Amino acid sequence: KSFLPPNFIQTIINDDLKENKNNGRVHTRFPPEPNGYLHIGHAKSVCLNFGIAAQNGGLCNLRFDDTNPSKEEVEYVESIKTDVRWLGFDWEDRMYYASDYFEELYRFAEQLIQDGQAYVCDLSAQEIREYRGTLTEPGKDSPFRNRSAEENLNLFRRMRTGEFADGSRVLRAKIDMASPNLNMRDPVLYRIQRAHHHRTGNDWCIYPMYDYAHPLSDALEKITHSICTLEFENHRPLYDWVIEACRTDPRPQQIEFARLNLTYTVMSKRKLRELVEQGYVSGWDDPRMPTISGLRRRGYTPEAIKDFCDRIGVAKSNSTVDIAMLEHCIREDLNKRAPRAMCVLHPLRVVIENYPEGQVEWLKAEINPEDPTMGTREVPFSRVIYIEQEDFMENPPKKFFRLSPGTEVRLKHAYIIKCVDVVKDEKTGEIVELKCTYDPETKSGMAQDHRKVKGTLHWVSAAHAVPAEIRLYENLFLKENPEEEDSADFKANLNPQSLTLLKSCLAEPGLAQGMPGSRFQFLRQGYFCVDPDSTKDVLVFNRIVSLKDSWAK
Ligand code: ATP
Ligand code: MG
Ligand code: MG
Repeated sequence: KSFLPPNFIQTIINDDLKENKNNGRVHTRFPPEPNGYLHIGHAKSVCLNFGIAAQNGGLCNLRFDDTNPSKEEVEYVESIKTDVRWLGFDWEDRMYYASDYFEELYRFAEQLIQDGQAYVCDLSAQEIREYRGTLTEPGKDSPFRNRSAEENLNLFRRMRTGEFADGSRVLRAKIDMASPNLNMRDPVLYRIQRAHHHRTGNDWCIYPMYDYAHPLSDALEKITHSICTLEFENHRPLYDWVIEACRTDPRPQQIEFARLNLTYTVMSKRKLRELVEQGYVSGWDDPRMPTISGLRRRGYTPEAIKDFCDRIGVAKSNSTVDIAMLEHCIREDLNKRAPRAMCVLHPLRVVIENYPEGQVEWLKAEINPEDPTMGTREVPFSRVIYIEQEDFMENPPKKFFRLSPGTEVRLKHAYIIKCVDVVKDEKTGEIVELKCTYDPETKSGMAQDHRKVKGTLHWVSAAHAVPAEIRLYENLFLKENPEEEDSADFKANLNPQSLTLLKSCLAEPGLAQGMPGSRFQFLRQGYFCVDPDSTKDVLVFNRIVSLKDSWAK
C-alpha cells in the first residue's frame, strides 16, 4: 500500500485522531460534478481523498455532485467511474449521487423554515445581486425577509409543486445582510428550474444550491473531512452554518487545499468542453488534452500520474506546476518498463551492396537494457534497410557523428556500415537512396566486435518493416498561461502546431502485435503508445513524450 508524502491535511487528521474526534473515524469523498471529463487536477483530488482514507484505515466515497441538471449527463458519470478506477482507486459499494438526497435535503429546508432560518424571497436574481451590497458596503434586507414561517412553508411547498415560474422565487438562508463575508448575506438555498435531471427526470422543479447540498451530503454520508479546493475557503462559514442550522450528526469539517494548475494548458471543464464542442480537439480523449482520458490515450500510466501528484504535494496556496515535471514522471516510469523497439519516422532507403541478396539474419536485441529480466527479441536484418533521413548528411558539419559519404556508423544490434555512394532523383536532386557496404566482422555481440565508431543509428529491414502512422504532439497552447489577463480569448493562444502527422513511418515487425495501449521506447525518438485508431494494415502511434528531459529539478 502506498502512502502520501507528509502534508498539512494529514497533520490535521493526526490531531483529530489524538483527540478521538469522530471516534477515530476518517471518511473522505471525491465529489465530481458530472458536467465533463476528469482532468489531471481532479487526479490530484482523487489521489488525496483516496490516499488520506487509505493511510488512516478510513473510507472514501465517490459522490456525483449532480445538483445542477442543465449541464450534467450520464456520459460524464460513466467516464468519471472509468477514470477513477483506471487511476487505481476503488470506492467499493460507496458510490452516491447528491440527487439521491433531494428528498432529505428538501426536508431539512422545511425544518430551516420552521426554525425561522430560511425564507422565500420574490426578488429577481438581478435584485438579489443589488441588495447584496459589496465588500465595502453592507447589503439591504429583502422586503420578503420577515415573512412568517407559515407563509414561507406554504410558498416553498408550492415552489416544489410547480406553481411558480422559473426564477420567480428562491429559498434563502436568513443569516446576516451585513456580514463582511458576502457568502453569508442570505445566500440562496433553492432555485426554481424546470430542467430534466439525468437521474430524477422531471420529479423536481426546484434544485438545491451547491453551498447547501454539499455540507448536507457530507453529513448524510458521515464524511469526517471534506477536502476541497481553495476557492471554497470563504464558503466555509456557510458550510458550517448549514451544518449547525440543520443540527446534523456527525458534523463534517471542510479543509481547503490549493488546486493544481499546469503550464501550457487550461484546466477548467468549461474551457475543455469548449475545445471539444467547437472542434479544436478530436474529443475529450484527444491525446493533447489534460484530461485523464486524454493522458491515457496519449500513453500515460496511472503510476506516473500518481507519482506526479505525490511530487507536487498538497499546499495551502495556489501555484502553477511546470508541465515538464509531468513529462519527467512518465519518462522515468517508462524508462524502467517500456520495451525498446526501432521505428524510422522519415525513412531513407539504404542498400548494403556486399550483403547477399535474399539473406535474412534474425539478430538478438535486448528488450530493455534497464531490466535484463525482460529478455530479448529478434530483429531481422537484410540487404535493404531504412534509416532516418536526418541521420545522413552529404556535406556534414564537424562533429556530425552520423552517416555521410565515406564515413562509418553502427547499426544498433547489427553491423558497422560505410556509405559509398549517394543516389539522387535526376529531376529534383533529392537524395533517394544510399549505397553502403557492411563489415561482417562487426556484428554486435561477436568476439571480433571491437571496432568503435562514433554514431549508432536505428534502422528497419525494408522487407520486414510494418507501416505506421505517428502522431507527434506539442503543447496545446503557446503561452505558459493561456488564460493570461491580456488575452481576450484563451483559444487565441492555441498552438497551431500541436499535432504533426507522420504517415509513412516504418517499424520493426515485432510491433505488428502491439495492442492499443501498449507502450514502447523507440530508440533515439521517445516513448510511444499504440492508438485505438490502429487497423490491421496500419499501426497508429501517439508520441507520449520525447527522450529529452527539460525538467529542471
Ligand atoms: P472545474 O473548474 O475544472 O470544472 P470543479 O472544481 O468545478 O473543476 P468538480 O467536478 O466540482 O470540478 O471537482 C471535483 C473535485 O475535484 C472537487 O473537490 C474539486 O475541488 C477537485 N478539483 C477540481 N479541479 C481541481 C484542480 N485543478 N486541482 C485539484 N483539485 C481539483
Ligand atoms: Mg465543483
Ligand atoms: Mg466547475
